[in-house]
Amino acid sequence: MSFATLGLSEAIVRAVAEQGYTTPTPIQAQAIPAVLGGGDLLAGAQTGTGKTAGFTLPLLQRLSTDKVGSTLRNKTAPRAIRALILAPTRELAAQVEESVRLYGQYTNLNSAVIFGGVGIHPQIKLLANGVDILVATPGRLLDHVGQGTIKLDKIEILVLDEADRMLDIGFLPDLQRILNYLPKSRTTLLFSATFSPEIKRLAESYLQNPVFIEVARPNATAATVEQHFY
Ligand code: AMP
Repeated sequence: MSFATLGLSEAIVRAVAEQGYTTPTPIQAQAIPAVLGGGDLLAGAQTGTGKTAGFTLPLLQRLSTDKVGSTLRNKTAPRAIRALILAPTRELAAQVEESVRLYGQYTNLNSAVIFGGVGIHPQIKLLANGVDILVATPGRLLDHVGQGTIKLDKIEILVLDEADRMLDIGFLPDLQRILNYLPKSRTTLLFSATFSPEIKRLAESYLQNPVFIEVARPNATAATVEQHFY
């Protein structure tokens, strides 16, 4: 199986090939067709499985080839945030945005990352310039909502990355507030390494008939450790 046979455009396949990826990982092989098909996704995947490309590649494909994306190519429409990726920490947010940038370098889409702990004014300017794909931590995103410096009404795709860690940090109320600002008609992709009752409740509340994918069993034991039970 190759990235091209999964339905990704030449521009995206080229960026991926330049990274030296030849074969999609299991999460990519399952997530890419599911997201291109337009449905919601509930994915159990840990870091190291290739999950970032698993949601980034089909997201780039959809946004660059849909009606708005094609218009953007003619530079006639101002950019509005159409994909929002929420991550628990600034490090992860920055890392994910780097991947979006890398995999999307031959598309006509742009991206930005916003997180707390740094000045808000450069971010306000960045958002005012127009962004297609925004990666954010929940707290700082709500700061912008509060100040009226961000518009979330054109979002087509929402990704909750490492959702379990976001709940561990205590972001559930923030997530719920953000979800209430988003258009009801959208694609939602939830990635989590574990499926606690809280994650299941979150998925039940905000995902519609999601495709369920799991690439590594939660709490699987390390294959390198020999175990005896007495
Ligand atoms: P992630 O699980 O998204 O943090 O990705 C883990 C690592 O796998 C990253 O360093 C990626 O660059 C790499 N990676 C992602 N997809 C592939 C692939 N299809 N083939 C080889 N490496 C990959």
